[in-house]
Amino acid sequence: MSNGFQKKVGSTLVLACLFSSNCFLAAPMKKEADVWSRPKSDRKFGNWEEVFSRPTRLEVTAFLTGYVFTGPSILIDRENPKTPEDQKREQWVPALSYLVKHPENGYFLLDSGVPGVDSENRCDFSLIGPLFNAPCRSEKGRDSAGQLEALKISNQQLNFVLVSHLHWDHIGGMEALRKRGPVRVLISEEEAKDASRAFGVFHGYSSKALSFDFDLSILKKDQFFEMPILGSVHDLYGDGSVWIISAHGHTEGELAVLLNASSGPILFTFDSSHLKAGFENEIPPGATVDKKKSVDIISRMNLFSKTFRKVRVVYGHEPTQWKKEPTISLAK
Ligand SMILES: [Zn+2]
Repeated sequence: MSNGFQKKVGSTLVLACLFSSNCFLAAPMKKEADVWSRPKSDRKFGNWEEVFSRPTRLEVTAFLTGYVFTGPSILIDRENPKTPEDQKREQWVPALSYLVKHPENGYFLLDSGVPGVDSENRCDFSLIGPLFNAPCRSEKGRDSAGQLEALKISNQQLNFVLVSHLHWDHIGGMEALRKRGPVRVLISEEEAKDASRAFGVFHGYSSKALSFDFDLSILKKDQFFEMPILGSVHDLYGDGSVWIISAHGHTEGELAVLLNASSGPILFTFDSSHLKAGFENEIPPGATVDKKKSVDIISRMNLFSKTFRKVRVVYGHEPTQWKKEPTISLAK
């Protein structure tokens, strides 16, 4: 699988990749390797009614990898008059990773959650770096690598990890995944670019986390096209099953995902909206790189969920959405 394409996110190699149109085509080839290099002229759907009339039998499993203690400075804009009083506090919030199985193309992950734990069940930050030692707790085996192990799913069966954005609670599980074998990572062009900058640390990127070796694939801006309500989207497999949504604002290249599952569509906001209250009241997160863009995408997704009532919304870190089980089936 190794052909010398291993890259370091955050290094000049990423930039080399960004400016090469063959970046992902040069990656280790697998059967489905070029699915995310399809141009936008390949589009097959013009509206969401059409998309929802052709769902795919996707299996979706949530891994509750651990909990992070944080507050309105990250989660929700405290100054917004619509912010409920009970959200203006620090709280333990869940950090998730999602396993998806496509009937023809196999497995992939959405995010990797928080890292594994030390002997006292504190998240092991030794690979992330000291800057982001927010209180974080979990239990042995709950990280995404541990949960894949329990399900007997190898890295060879895992086609890629789509990373919503490069903050540590979303890529914390990457190093443990990489230890099991090569991992392909799919991120947006804007996210890779911003995390590569020398001042990336000010946008919440840990330089240490970004030095992990990944097989990196980059979703380029020109692969996205406009769809009603949600705006700029990418139909990953070209079959209307997995939609990647430009959800920039919390970070420069934040992505959201819509899965068109047979049991009903599921919209993952990731950190474009950490909390249900933020989503429903159209309040941006406390931490944004562009508040206007952030409010715009939340409003679009909110309207989308009101227009298509069967869409189930999964927020970035909503505590009331999850019980304590480490593995939760969302679609079969
Ligand atoms: Zn997060």
